[in-house]
Amino acid sequence: MTTTGRLAPSPTGAQHLGNARTYLLAWLSARSKGGTVRLRVEDIDTPRNKPDAVGQLFDDLARLGLDFDGEPVVQSANLDAHVAALEVLKRRELVYPCTCTRSDIATASAAPHAEHEGPAYPGTCAFRSAGDAANLARPFAWRFRVTHSPAFVDGFRGPTAIDLRQAGGDFVVWRAYDAPAYQLAVVVDDAAMGVTEVLRGDDLVPSTPRQLLLYEALGLPAPSFTHVPLVVGADGRRLAKRHGDTRLQTYWKAGVTPESVLGTLAWSCGWLAAPQRVTARELLPRFTLASVPPTPWVADERFLRATRPG
Ligand code: GLU
Repeated sequence: MTTTGRLAPSPTGAQHLGNARTYLLAWLSARSKGGTVRLRVEDIDTPRNKPDAVGQLFDDLARLGLDFDGEPVVQSANLDAHVAALEVLKRRELVYPCTCTRSDIATASAAPHAEHEGPAYPGTCAFRSAGDAANLARPFAWRFRVTHSPAFVDGFRGPTAIDLRQAGGDFVVWRAYDAPAYQLAVVVDDAAMGVTEVLRGDDLVPSTPRQLLLYEALGLPAPSFTHVPLVVGADGRRLAKRHGDTRLQTYWKAGVTPESVLGTLAWSCGWLAAPQRVTARELLPRFTLASVPPTPWVADERFLRATRPG
């Protein structure tokens, strides 16, 4: 089977060094196997989309030499397929309408939870069947009934198991403002695009068992999953504005070459002994996941110095 990888940027902000590192890894992983790479713009989180972000991300990828095959897919254009998948889940009674607000859930669940995950959904609305939606006056989301937590073998981390009952519980597949949620859209779109390998940041590890449940529920073949460590600032937190301006567009404007950014990223992945200018294609024979450090990459002064103009 030929490999099909994908890049799936969200136009919710500018792409920075951390995004570039993940895209480079995803691109090299697919291309080094002679595979294809697809591009999907994940624009369904409409309230958070930034107007210039789509144009900029195409520019960033082009400068980095991360090319893709076929037409780029814009996620919001696939709404019909997302609706059809939701209908399948309703017919199979695998989802139920949920009228809980964020504060309802926070009040109902006393259990401690991971900072970014929110409390596990306590199942307040799980008594409903799909047909009950017709009688609801309040806005409602659709939640997927978590019956088990599929374990998987991660291409970087190895065997991985997360208990979804603790990590979030029944999860939203359709938003109360009538839009697909990330978990459903990503599964439907990856399957439609023939994606066979997903390589992305390890902040999404907890999403993978949820997505595996959806692949099962929709009768779709699941891709392989590989999660790589993120880039963090010197304080150990995920790369963000407070760490200085690491937006790719800012580098380009300052005259930093894509080859210099790529060289620094390649060095951070253990493919070069020191940062030196290199193109994405030149990295193909050097690509291996084995040399990528298992801990987050700290974008400290040394890292940022290596991407100075000149
Ligand atoms: N659009 C997501 C992001 O930019 C990535 C989703 C995925 O790779 O599944 O963080």
